[in-house]
Amino acid sequence: MTDALTRLIAGFRTFHDRYFQQNRALYDRLTTEGQVPKVLVVGCSDARVDPAILTYAQPGDLFVVRNVGAIVPPHEEAGRGYHGTSSALEFGVRGLNVEHIVVLGHALCGGMRALADGPAEDSRDYEYLHDWVRIAAAARDAVRVELRDAPAETRRRALEQAGIVVSLGNLMTFPWVRERVVAGTLALHGWYFDFTVGTLFAYDTAAGRFAPVAESAHPLSPDRHADLAAALDVGRFVRRIAAACNQTEAAEGNAVHGHAIPPRRP
Ligand SMILES: [Zn+2]
Repeated sequence: MTDALTRLIAGFRTFHDRYFQQNRALYDRLTTEGQVPKVLVVGCSDARVDPAILTYAQPGDLFVVRNVGAIVPPHEEAGRGYHGTSSALEFGVRGLNVEHIVVLGHALCGGMRALADGPAEDSRDYEYLHDWVRIAAAARDAVRVELRDAPAETRRRALEQAGIVVSLGNLMTFPWVRERVVAGTLALHGWYFDFTVGTLFAYDTAAGRFAPVAESAHPLSPDRHADLAAALDVGRFVRRIAAACNQTEAAEGNAVHGHAIPPRRP
């Protein structure tokens, strides 16, 4: 039981000797000047997707809030319940004036799986989890309708990515996020990390799909409101995936069919 913690304490010693000591100037600056991160990340609590590790970030670079599913709840009036994620957003945006918010979803997300399966099929009686992930119910519903006949793998990935689209839409319900996005001082990004192959995808709002991040770093653009609304429409996002699946199926069907036809004899 103590092995895991012993490793962490040994790890801290290594960090202290190799990293902290060699970066004293950085830590001195962070001490005297405070934190000035430009990027806020909403990540998942999943142990495999640490935002700082996968971006090689330095101390002070990222203001991070992690929760189950990397979900952004919609704006609510203060005073109702506890708002851990919303208060992190509030401080990051209004207190630290971050310039970017990245919603970082990922492959094989247990939070999204819990959303898909629902409490009825879950043998464990979680007290909070299902209510929380249901924030992204619109993503689950769209996948159930549009991809009902698709392979499980396609549905899983679609839900994980659609959840990010829902969270981006919810970000825009916070008045101080929307104001800054419209003013061009804050950019929103949807990222999806597939750790099974080591690829980071970014939501290409113009194309309505996730593309490898090197090809796509398109933030939500408020210049064209119609495009913005379309990019945040989770139903439309999932329908595009379904359409792409159908095209692939049709192409594969033709190929199989082509083989099935015996060559004509001269
Ligand atoms: Zn997750």
